[in-house]
Amino acid sequence: MKLAFPAAPQVTIPVAGGEGAVPVRRIWCVGRNYAEHAREMGHDPDREPPFFFSKPADAIVANGTAIPYPPGTKDLHHEIELVVVLGKGGTDIKVADALGHVFGYGVGLDMTRRDLQGQAKKMGRPWEMGKGFDQSAPCSAIQPATTIGHPAKGAIWVKVNGQTKQTGDLNQQIWKVEETISILSSLVALAPGDIIYNGTPAGVGAVVKGDKLDGHIDGVGDLSVSYR
Ligand code: MN
Repeated sequence: MKLAFPAAPQVTIPVAGGEGAVPVRRIWCVGRNYAEHAREMGHDPDREPPFFFSKPADAIVANGTAIPYPPGTKDLHHEIELVVVLGKGGTDIKVADALGHVFGYGVGLDMTRRDLQGQAKKMGRPWEMGKGFDQSAPCSAIQPATTIGHPAKGAIWVKVNGQTKQTGDLNQQIWKVEETISILSSLVALAPGDIIYNGTPAGVGAVVKGDKLDGHIDGVGDLSVSYR
């Protein structure tokens, strides 16, 4: 079919070790998946089922990028997260089968315009302008599960200008990766290239122009970006 204008380029994330790239279809994010972070945001972590929001695929930013500070905010926050890349889709995926749908894992930042998100919460409005803005999803290269397995524990942290700001362990996730995939697949049809930002540990905070962010997850990798 003749397109009326050229299609946007396919968004990709490199596979670690130079094994090509994964094509990104959709970005799903899990809210409040670590108890301490849920508490710092004023919620009871024990009684809430997981909930989801999304970012556009082209919010992905490559490791090493100097990102322009986004418009419309005076309170840009970092959220360091495990990123799960699906290599296989499905609906109503069973928890026991879910990890078989994972291609690999990365280190991501769910960057958040906290002031706009806070306004939206207060007014009962959608979160998109707080969460789904341009260049809001930095992500490291993806480590295939065939190489690293399925990390269920290990340190996750982010430093800002060398100072540790968020720190936690993957074993503190309220909803495990396989549970998250299963629940999400009961709500939408998942497909290869769907990626899931799996929630952030406590310690979120503001980033300003000139800041350098260094994120890490044991056994998964490292992510560094800066703001200009
Ligand atoms: Mn998040």
